[in-house]
Amino acid sequence: MTLNVAQIRDQFPILKRQVNGQPLVYLDNAATTQKPQAVIDALVDYYTQCNSNVHRGAHYLSDEATKRYEAARKTVAAYINAGRSEEVIWTSGTTEGINLVANGVAQRLKAGDEVLVTEMEHHADLVTWQQACKRSGATLKVVPIHDSGELNVDAFHQLLSDKTAFVAMPHVSNALGTINPIKELTAAAKAKGALVLIDGAQGVAHGAIDVQDIGCDFYAFSGHKLFGPTGIGVLWGRYDVLAEWPVWLVGGEMIATVSYQDATWGELPNRLEAGTPNIAGVIGLAAAITWLQGLNAKDIWAHEQALLKRATELAEQTQGLRIIGTAPNKIGVLSFVIEGIHPADIGFILDKQGVAIRTGDHCAQPLMKRLGVPGTARASFSIYNTMDDVEALFKAINKAQMMLA
Ligand code: PMP
Repeated sequence: MTLNVAQIRDQFPILKRQVNGQPLVYLDNAATTQKPQAVIDALVDYYTQCNSNVHRGAHYLSDEATKRYEAARKTVAAYINAGRSEEVIWTSGTTEGINLVANGVAQRLKAGDEVLVTEMEHHADLVTWQQACKRSGATLKVVPIHDSGELNVDAFHQLLSDKTAFVAMPHVSNALGTINPIKELTAAAKAKGALVLIDGAQGVAHGAIDVQDIGCDFYAFSGHKLFGPTGIGVLWGRYDVLAEWPVWLVGGEMIATVSYQDATWGELPNRLEAGTPNIAGVIGLAAAITWLQGLNAKDIWAHEQALLKRATELAEQTQGLRIIGTAPNKIGVLSFVIEGIHPADIGFILDKQGVAIRTGDHCAQPLMKRLGVPGTARASFSIYNTMDDVEALFKAINKAQMMLA
């Protein structure tokens, strides 16, 4: 089977837009994906038919909102193969999920402990662990990458030791597209007794995720990169770990009992979810996942790989263009620099032609430094992109070269 891209595109109203007088060619999917009508409808339906606070009201709408909200937790749990739906904690996004974990880890780390991250880390993962180490006196160790953008797996194994208390790594690099062998690396880290967090921001939208198969302790991702709304994300954590995790935000919803002098905490998942949650976001995310489950994961993968392959061929034929990130195992991300042209100028000229990409350091400043580039231009593909989009990208790049080089 192949993906029916025309039918998929029809479900994304924004793709019918023009920008700068040109049909939109949206190639900034690693930053955020567009939303299908099913997600937009779910949000509108929630606000027009069901809006109410959850877990609180003694009335019909509150009951209905709570049912939809908790059903969404089950949808997410099934999508990532969580053992129990209470392991799904709602967050505002990957960043908050990682911070939630770091809040707990930092309280347990001590001088002499080591935390492992990688050279390809997004700031959300890097800065959080760097600061957790600073607070606790633990040492941050950075696993190097090869020039291709692949993780140096041998170095990973060498850096792992009995001192390793925690390992955080991306499933997929947002800047380069590299897919890391997280299952193998997680197994090695667990064998040393470390806890493992996978930054899944770029991992979730490109294939089925099975957190139990990966074997990690935590997996964090954002709804907005998975065709869902912004402001909603998921931290999945193993029940036995989360159940004794230090509380994070305190306030309503997460308590069991409160006196003026003290409080006791509720059960999972509530104990890690203080305050009124992003109910519409949760429902929108579940709608996105349900919609995505209507497509065949293998077809999605094959389609994105075909786009990447064609884009890579055209990139290799483009004089002066250098691909940044040439790992054999990549999602549909093409990061590149062009001799003599600043990435920001490439982005500007592409935008004038309706082609939306991202330029800059991709929230990975140390990685850019490591690779010796000021930043890159990054085209990232999704299920609704076509071969015509790839051709449009390179037509626009050629124009940029004619204008600027
Ligand atoms: N990690 C990676 C690998 C990412 O790509 C991103 C988003 N660019 C994040 C973390 C942070 O995600 P969010 O901004 O949605 O919290």
